[in-house]
Amino acid sequence: MTTFADGTTSTTTADLIALDERWSTHNYHPLPVVIAEAEGPWVTDVDGRRYLDFLSGYSALNFGHRHPALVAAAIEQLGRVTLTSRAFHHDQLGRFCQELATLTGTEKVLPMNSGAEAVESALKVARKWAYRVKGIPDGTAEIVVAASNFHGRTTTIVSFSTDETARADFGPFTPGFVVVPYGDEAALAAAITERTAAVLLEPVQGEAGVIVPPPGYLGRARELCDEAGALLIADEIQSGLARTGPVLALDHEGVRADLYTLGKALGGGIVPVSAVAGRADVLGVLRPGEHGSTFGGNPLACAVGRAVVRLLETGEFQERAATLGAHLHARLGELVGHGVSEVRGRGLWAGVDLAPGGLSGRAASEALMARGVLCKETHGATLRVAPPLVISRDELDQGIDAIETVVRVR
Ligand SMILES: *Cc1c(COP(=O)(O)O)cnc(C)c1O
Repeated sequence: MTTFADGTTSTTTADLIALDERWSTHNYHPLPVVIAEAEGPWVTDVDGRRYLDFLSGYSALNFGHRHPALVAAAIEQLGRVTLTSRAFHHDQLGRFCQELATLTGTEKVLPMNSGAEAVESALKVARKWAYRVKGIPDGTAEIVVAASNFHGRTTTIVSFSTDETARADFGPFTPGFVVVPYGDEAALAAAITERTAAVLLEPVQGEAGVIVPPPGYLGRARELCDEAGALLIADEIQSGLARTGPVLALDHEGVRADLYTLGKALGGGIVPVSAVAGRADVLGVLRPGEHGSTFGGNPLACAVGRAVVRLLETGEFQERAATLGAHLHARLGELVGHGVSEVRGRGLWAGVDLAPGGLSGRAASEALMARGVLCKETHGATLRVAPPLVISRDELDQGIDAIETVVRVR
């Protein structure tokens, strides 16, 4: 049992895990650690053990746990107004949309809550745009997506997942999606027709194992969309907001999307905040009553989102992701051929494929946990490494040292 700063105490790790197991639905398989407190890149479990967070809530914690500027913005807003519904205006919404649009070089913002909702919103907007602007016959619009995609968990989104675990038993599925291999220009070109409303891509596929497409692929996707009069939708929910260096991962390629979906870090790890940001003429197809969300764009979410934008306006986190990311990739690269078969990624974000015959991803994650580093495997044998962008170089090295100890084979 541990006593915390506020005088509360906790029961044991085993008791709390048993409680989770008994009462919460088993739609996750967490590591056996029970977190009670966190600050910056560190979390503390109920027994007082500290760990470096090398997952960052799948990039929802790009600015670390409880970043002082974000907590201050949230507290300030808690003392003013937290929810109005969109039935009324409030004094944070317009400012949030303006500031986010300016940061991302876009014209309009549609705020939502979860990432999946932002993706759903972009799909609806693209379909309506296709019928009303492009002139595709009603009910025939197609959206081209990539294999191994991850865009969320709704029934429509899992309809075009290629991950059987995410999809099986959840049909009947939403039609209107065409799946092509990721990174394959020819396949993308062949899939786009006059019925294509949009191409939806992750600039880096996160859940798939931090897959960076071949150079030129995203630029070619832009050209193909232009030629066909289709929209390019970039899902930057995980890759965006400085994780790979620039505000948007597409910026690496000098490519602009028509719509961006943003989420995760947009809520600063405090509240769920997502958005579609993009062209005014495309988002402009929505009329009152056609789409919405009770909590979307609420004052608290907007205040936190504005504080996130202010952090990104300094450029500090973009710089940290680039510099620390180069260091991370240089060090992880040395493990290739020594227990690691491949390392991919961009910025402070890496997918580390464990060599066949060695540790499973789960076993490696558990061994890292025992050494005070939390990260999580994806697809069996890939470790996903995404420390908060506030981590120091020494802390980063400490985590990489642990990875090296766990996975290195001479
Ligand atoms: C996490 C994620 C989503 C879904 O976000 P939720 O907030 O979990 O609904 C969508 N797209 C990408 C690329 C993601 O990484």
